[in-house]
Amino acid sequence: MPSIVKEVGETFVTLVKGFSVTLRTMFQKTTTENFPVVPPSVQPRYRGIHVLQRDENGLEKCVGCFLCAAACPANCIYIEAAENTDAKRISAGERYASVYNIDYSRCIFCGYCVEACPTDAITHGHSLDLAPYDINALIYRKEQLLEPWPPRKPAVKS
Ligand code: SF4
Ligand code: SF4
Repeated sequence: MPSIVKEVGETFVTLVKGFSVTLRTMFQKTTTENFPVVPPSVQPRYRGIHVLQRDENGLEKCVGCFLCAAACPANCIYIEAAENTDAKRISAGERYASVYNIDYSRCIFCGYCVEACPTDAITHGHSLDLAPYDINALIYRKEQLLEPWPPRKPAVKS
């Protein structure tokens, strides 16, 4: 009999403890973010989907040197380089990346590629929307990574 009383007592204490947490948090301000309707706020150093940068003239900063691919521990960067010509200049260097793919099913967002790049051509952006139904959609092509030109105007806050 005393053990039943003890069990009932312990159950009661446990319930009070549990519901006290529920009641305490019920009236606090919610921290849920309305993603994807509202873009989430991230820290400035957040490592999101990469951005291939352009210089002030709109030329691609990537010179197709492959250093980022060599530094990548996940082996997820695929590059094909091509020569610039006077008639067709894509980057300021001798070569440019005609193909630049990153496989985000393998990328671990370590940032080694960014550190390895001699021209600051590749940086981390703040986008984190990587949840497709088809895994092949996680292979991002150069066209998806490249900074738009002319640059997008920053959103005006009202
Ligand atoms: S962040 Fe790391 S894993 Fe991802 S592409 Fe760059 S080097 Fe590779
Ligand atoms: S992104 Fe940078 S490191 Fe990678 S190929 Fe282009 S210039 Fe070289």
